[in-house]
Amino acid sequence: MINKLFKNKYSLTIIQLLTLTVFILLIYGAIGVTTNDSDFAKVLRNTNLSNLIVWSYWWPLIIVTAIFFGRFWCTICPMELITSFFGRIGLRKKPGTFLKSGWIITLFYAIIIVIGIHTLSIHRIPQNMAIYMLILFAIAAIVGLIWEKRTFCTYVCPIGHLLGLYSLLSFKKLRVIDVDVCKTCKTKDCVSKENHYKFIGRSCTSELYPEKLKDNRDCILCGQCFKSCTHNNIAITKQRMAADIFTNINLSWAEITFFVIVSGFVVYEILSGWKVSKEILMATPNFINDEFSVSSNLKGTIKATTLFILLPSIFYFALVIVKKYLAQESWKSAYTQLVLAILPITASMHLLKAILKTTSRIPYWNFAITDTEGIKSAELIINNKELLSNNFLDSVIFPTISIISIILSVIGLVISFYVIKKQEHKNNLSKTISVLSALIYFSVFFITLVFWKVLS
Ligand code: SF4
Ligand code: SF4
Ligand code: SF4
Repeated sequence: MINKLFKNKYSLTIIQLLTLTVFILLIYGAIGVTTNDSDFAKVLRNTNLSNLIVWSYWWPLIIVTAIFFGRFWCTICPMELITSFFGRIGLRKKPGTFLKSGWIITLFYAIIIVIGIHTLSIHRIPQNMAIYMLILFAIAAIVGLIWEKRTFCTYVCPIGHLLGLYSLLSFKKLRVIDVDVCKTCKTKDCVSKENHYKFIGRSCTSELYPEKLKDNRDCILCGQCFKSCTHNNIAITKQRMAADIFTNINLSWAEITFFVIVSGFVVYEILSGWKVSKEILMATPNFINDEFSVSSNLKGTIKATTLFILLPSIFYFALVIVKKYLAQESWKSAYTQLVLAILPITASMHLLKAILKTTSRIPYWNFAITDTEGIKSAELIINNKELLSNNFLDSVIFPTISIISIILSVIGLVISFYVIKKQEHKNNLSKTISVLSALIYFSVFFITLVFWKVLS
């Protein structure tokens, strides 16, 4: 069915137009809804319908989809439609070396979580979220107008590396059906320059050659090569879960850095759920904030920089140093081995966060639907927290999620061990260091989850 959908001339574009319409409605529903009160914003983020959909359902769904199915969000992403449209009428300049390095994606993501989320609260203040989405659309359009093909998706999109890395775990893949057909194919329509700017059946504008695809990271599943291939030689098929991560993956420095930030972010997301682990985690940023008398509106910036950049960088660097000097791995291979080893645990915990978020927001739905703006509902809830009580969630759903959380963390660890087993290490010591690193990282989550979800 998926392959039929991908081969159909208009189906994916129609879905993209629908998601574009939904995005415009979400922006409309968030514009003008704002507050300066940070406590009020913590409730408003769930009572404003647009904000609730974007951060508690749409975003977690993207994470879940990437882990299980690969970059299917990209298939229906309206930004791709926008940037490709402007690419058709733009200057079509070739991207330079820095743009092609992937660092813009990493920097863009870091700016969003440090400044956007933890300084400007785009995840809590609906109007700020709307402005953020408008800025994203504007950047996608401007990049499309200046650079050739689909530069925004390939080298700028702030979630590009995240979707790419998580899609290594997916059990779906897009590949050519028969490489021999490609070898004898004279026209190479899937990469031909003449097809780059066709409306339907474009050749790949993500700098890929379908025949050479080895893993899921870079293919955004736009489906254009399906339609351009005159030999019907491209398909989406099943593969073993996480099959891609067991192949010989080379990560760029930009991807490695991106993952270091993501893992810090996921540690924060899970550990901040339990009072004790949150206190431990916040000790360093609180110390820095107090020591340097940081003003209240910059405290979030310091917190995010410390937790998502500084501490994770120290953690990985310490492990890599040991790998490099005791086990003679090169810097790059030591970092790559650790990132790929720790990726399944991070993804499993990101998945858990998605489950926690989507379920914990269920009590807000009644309010968000009856009062889409959410201001009055937020006032009501602040004055009477009992309004959110939900017996079924408390007695059935949350206890079930507690068990799932432990299972997920263990599955993450098992896949991590399997990745390490399959990796090429210089010696056994290097392998042992990877195993210990995965165990340390896993323990941080596991201990928190046991105390927070099982024993408390
Ligand atoms: S790379 Fe980013 S902008 Fe492009 S389709 Fe995927 S999510 Fe959308
Ligand atoms: S057009 Fe089809 S058959 Fe030809 S090289 Fe591309 S994928 Fe292979
Ligand atoms: S190989 Fe290129 S054209 Fe084909 S689906 Fe992937 S990104 Fe799109």
